[in-house]
Amino acid sequence: MHSKKAIIIGSGVAGLAVAIRLSVQGYTVTVYEKNAEPGGKLSIYKKDGYSFDTGPSLFTDPDELKDLFDFAGEDIEAYISYRQLASSCKYFFVNGKTFNTWIDKEKLAQESAEKIGEPAQNILQYLQKSAQLYENIGTVFLNNSLQKKSTWKKKAFIKAFTSVRPGLLFSTLNQYHESAFTTGEAIQVFNRFATYNGSNPYMCPSMLSIIPHVELNKGAFYPKGGMISITDALYKLAIKKGVQFVFSAPVQRIICVNNNAKGIVLNNKNIFSHIVISNVDTWFTYKNLLLDNRKAQHIEKKEKSSSAIVFLWGIKKQFPQMHLHNIFFSGDYKAEFKTIFQLKSVYKDPTIYVNITSKMEDAHAPHGKENWFVMINVPADSGQDWTKMAAFLKQQVLKKLRGMLKEDIEPLIETEKIIMPPEIAANTSAKNGALYGISSNTKRNAFLRHPNFSKEINGLYFCGGTVHPGGGIPLCLKSAKIVGEMVKSEN
Ligand SMILES: Cc1cc2nc3c(=O)[nH]c(=O)nc-3n(C[C@H](O)[C@H](O)[C@H](O)COP(=O)(O)OP(=O)(O)OC[C@H]3O[C@@H](n4cnc5c(N)ncnc54)[C@H](O)[C@@H]3O)c2cc1C
Repeated sequence: MHSKKAIIIGSGVAGLAVAIRLSVQGYTVTVYEKNAEPGGKLSIYKKDGYSFDTGPSLFTDPDELKDLFDFAGEDIEAYISYRQLASSCKYFFVNGKTFNTWIDKEKLAQESAEKIGEPAQNILQYLQKSAQLYENIGTVFLNNSLQKKSTWKKKAFIKAFTSVRPGLLFSTLNQYHESAFTTGEAIQVFNRFATYNGSNPYMCPSMLSIIPHVELNKGAFYPKGGMISITDALYKLAIKKGVQFVFSAPVQRIICVNNNAKGIVLNNKNIFSHIVISNVDTWFTYKNLLLDNRKAQHIEKKEKSSSAIVFLWGIKKQFPQMHLHNIFFSGDYKAEFKTIFQLKSVYKDPTIYVNITSKMEDAHAPHGKENWFVMINVPADSGQDWTKMAAFLKQQVLKKLRGMLKEDIEPLIETEKIIMPPEIAANTSAKNGALYGISSNTKRNAFLRHPNFSKEINGLYFCGGTVHPGGGIPLCLKSAKIVGEMVKSEN
């Protein structure tokens, strides 16, 4: 008997992961990808001897990746190696203080007390609560589809749901941090975790305090070869498991007959399958692949997550005071978020993230030089003049770094590429270039993301950063697992 056919649209991290899962489950799987290579946001750019990751730069929760390789019966070490970082990030404050988020708790506690004056026990207690929240509630919410009745009947789910403290639902992340910490520096460091899903700490629910657990308790990691190694490893595993790939293949439609997904249209030709999984932004899927304007408009009305302007700079000097991950904080974080989410503009004193993988691998920059991935959070695209905004931001970034590093960076830039929200949108079909789909600034948006299946169309499933449980590599991998299990139980 022939095995059932599955079509995956898109080869982002979740598309690759679900392709592997379904292939292992016995499906004949074909992935159709509009770009010439796999990876989606998880891609690479090379120029003048420099190599830059263009999307994600922080790798957390490698157990999710390992789980996928275990599921496929393969030894992950044959595909990718990664190591834990001693410190996940070095923070630079406008008052000249610095703070390393060491993964070693004793070191972190000592650093906290000595460098920013935050009592060690506050940090340790916070991280303990974050771990409890993740274990008691997070694991159940993040690993199951919230829109399936079967989930709500699970004992663990009922237990988790009833254990949610109302305070965590009704206070914002910033309010929670103001009660947990005594110093502005600690509040700012922990507020920043809201940006991990493109949200505003002054609006999003304090339940998002589970995010620091993933980085600071479970650890931050660096994959050998850079983030692109994750795409490469998933692609290699998919090939090994028999997944077929068709690149430069922009899918035009999803074929639906009597509310059943029956395949796709590519190059004006029908290609049939038993199930279809969209790894593409949900708005794009409804608007362009299903021609469902009503659903597309419903998504369009929701507030988008933030986007980014990224400067890829080849720097002809090395900066020993900087690490792999560095943050140069804004002097007024609240005003920065107000500018991004309410004024939908770029802030004059932006928080600057600088990722330098040549700190880990000599091959990523010419000898004696560094590859700087400089990222600024900006609003999703709503028609702003991005060329003008990028030029303004570049000047502000250079001015700020000159002040904080005591060095003029501009003459050191020997190669440059600028990535703006419209480019992120065009490359990956992300609506408005939003990095994580809709923001988690409201409780509803934070907890009820788009389901992993279609309620109207049988045999149509969704995975990736715009659906449950959320954006970022670990959650995208979880969405693929949820879809794999759903397909198994339903077909
Ligand atoms: C600048 C930036 C920084 C980030 N930083 C981090 C970080 O540090 N850590 C982290 O964990 N996450 C980070 N993220 C988020 C993370 O990259 C995403 O959540 C994740 O990679 C999204 O994966 P996905 O599976 O949703 O697919 P995507 O990467 O969104 O890929 C979707 C794929 O679908 C394809 N496609 C679109 N339309 C079609 C069509 N019609 N036909 C066929 N194929 C189509 C696209 O070409 C693309 O390859 C960052 C993202 C960006 C952009």
